[in-house]
Amino acid sequence: MPEGDTIHNAARRMRAVLLDRVPDEIRTPHPRHGADRWPERLQGRAVRGVDAHGKHLFVRFDGELTLHSHLRMTGAWGVHREGARWKRAARRAWLVIRAGEWSVVEFDGPVLELMRESRTRFDRRLAALGPDVVGERFDRDDFLARLRAQDPARAIGDALLDQRVVAGIGNAWKAESCFAARVSPWRELARVDDDEALAIAEFAHQQMSRSAASDGFSARPRAVYGRTGLPCERCGTPIRSRGQGDDNRTTYWCPACQT
Ligand SMILES: [Zn+2]
Repeated sequence: MPEGDTIHNAARRMRAVLLDRVPDEIRTPHPRHGADRWPERLQGRAVRGVDAHGKHLFVRFDGELTLHSHLRMTGAWGVHREGARWKRAARRAWLVIRAGEWSVVEFDGPVLELMRESRTRFDRRLAALGPDVVGERFDRDDFLARLRAQDPARAIGDALLDQRVVAGIGNAWKAESCFAARVSPWRELARVDDDEALAIAEFAHQQMSRSAASDGFSARPRAVYGRTGLPCERCGTPIRSRGQGDDNRTTYWCPACQT
């Protein structure tokens, strides 16, 4: 599942080929958007910004029009040079923005909408987002305040996935960040002190920002995520996994050195 670093990474690659350019062609091959007339509405408009907040991505056009996307579990962004093989089949493309020899493509995207720029500021889902964990502007005080506003009986691992607490962290980074700070994802918020919460957030912030700026996923640590039954790299105890939270997302942890 794409997390905030992947989305910021895509925004950076898209900016490089779209910024301050009027796309040569915009297509919406998927039937769901066939009647939306986006090619007509966006015709002749330059791209003035491509940015991300958490897992949300925005392509901002002249004239106060913004494309908003969220990839959920299934979607992907591709940036392809002409003639290069696309990362997924063309029939899975929902949106194609072509500028010169580059095509920016959204595949399998469940949330894709064209909105007035003003709505991106007042939309309830977007306005409720917590501070973005990726990038220099990560607001640690805001994160702590939002974390402390949660039910103190809520598990830290569950709270970290709540995009209203902090935006951008998904299941893999949640598991790795808790491991790095030696905090069990099952510990109740009431028993996680501020230093521990900040240590978790700081690891996510540093590592995800690095990943967002990189050209691959080599920067991603994999100490616990997907390693059920394998020995912990710190203490050798087998890593455990179990579903957590309302969505029953599988969480991974070392039962010995994460308490
Ligand atoms: Zn361990």
